[in-house]
Amino acid sequence: MQKIGEITSNNEVLIQTDVSLQAHNSLAVPAKAAYFSRCSSVPQLLGSLDFAKSNGLSVLVLGEGSNIVLSGDYDGMVVLNRLTGIELVSENSESVVVDVAAGENWHDFVGYALERAWFGLENLALIPGLVGAAPIQNIGAYGVEVKDSIEAVHVLDIESGQVRILSNSDCQFAYRDSIFKHALSAKYVITSVVFRLLKTAQLTLTYPALAANLTASACPIDVYNAVCQIRASKLPMPDDIPNAGSFFKNPVVDQDKHRQLTALFPSIVAFPLDGGSAKLAAAWLIEQCGWKDKSVDAVYVHRDQALVIVNPNFKSGNSILKMAAAIQADVKSTYDVVLEIEPRVY
Ligand SMILES: Cc1cc2nc3c(=O)[nH]c(=O)nc-3n(C[C@H](O)[C@H](O)[C@H](O)COP(=O)(O)OP(=O)(O)OC[C@H]3O[C@@H](n4cnc5c(N)ncnc54)[C@H](O)[C@@H]3O)c2cc1C
Repeated sequence: MQKIGEITSNNEVLIQTDVSLQAHNSLAVPAKAAYFSRCSSVPQLLGSLDFAKSNGLSVLVLGEGSNIVLSGDYDGMVVLNRLTGIELVSENSESVVVDVAAGENWHDFVGYALERAWFGLENLALIPGLVGAAPIQNIGAYGVEVKDSIEAVHVLDIESGQVRILSNSDCQFAYRDSIFKHALSAKYVITSVVFRLLKTAQLTLTYPALAANLTASACPIDVYNAVCQIRASKLPMPDDIPNAGSFFKNPVVDQDKHRQLTALFPSIVAFPLDGGSAKLAAAWLIEQCGWKDKSVDAVYVHRDQALVIVNPNFKSGNSILKMAAAIQADVKSTYDVVLEIEPRVY
């Protein structure tokens, strides 16, 4: 393998070795990357991919690291996607199509769209991370998922460097899920996301916390402000205490299982879905098992939010996963329900 300290390749990408990732993951796990590059242009991205390929390195593309657990040092190359730019592609009387580079900040883009009266993203305000990661787990909050505003996703093939455009249906979006977590996992770098946003607002106020805060005359800016206010009051932000947001997905159970659980636990919190199934509130299950403010290996469940694991003592990813496994085992034995970890584990 080519031995380097810091080099500048033909495409002017700085490739560093043995770099701490603590500031690049919101759980502040003190892991390291064997190789590391920060890419703010497509040539830099191609140069990094080329270097990884020539040296037989696996590639981990990162945005802000707000949805990952690093279980140890990464022995391949971490590529920070910092491509920027927002382009209005087309518009008609009803909507705009806008192409947003993967390295743009998600929340800033939500604000940018609202300022221009482009609607559809207001419920997704204040979700940490960058635009390029939004399709990966089909980010969602307060009754809205980003898939409903995505027209296409532009990608670069990590192996060949070829450009490809995936349509919305190609992405196989589902609850906190997409093809990027399965068949296309680690195959592509998302370079930009194309959104179709509406010129006339169609508000989604079904989520109880929003319905309680807003009236029927609310406008998109009211929704945006309410979402920001609710999130700021309820969720610990990683800058204050390291965390990756919700650590588990809300489990979906079929009608029979939901009935069974409701008979045994009448106060169980669940959201009905089409076809009779139900999405259980993972936070309720965890809280009822007594996990709030509990610790394993000095990693804690947040004292107010049972779904959030916090890492105030900068422990390893393995300590975090040990805590997660203990919670999963407890919920399984109490409710016979499997909790799935939401962040990507490396
Ligand atoms: C406090 C807090 C609250 C949160 N609330 C929510 C919420 O309400 N709803 C929700 O859905 N999520 C939520 N999250 C999770 C997180 O904000 C989202 O998943 C976000 O999209 C992650 O963005 P990121 O840039 O940090 O991605 P990263 O954590 O850097 O990456 C996440 C995954 O995407 C891959 N990836 C990132 N960028 C690219 C790219 N350009 N090309 C290819 N692969 C890429 C990475 O390899 C990794 O697998 C929350 C997280 C925190 C810390």
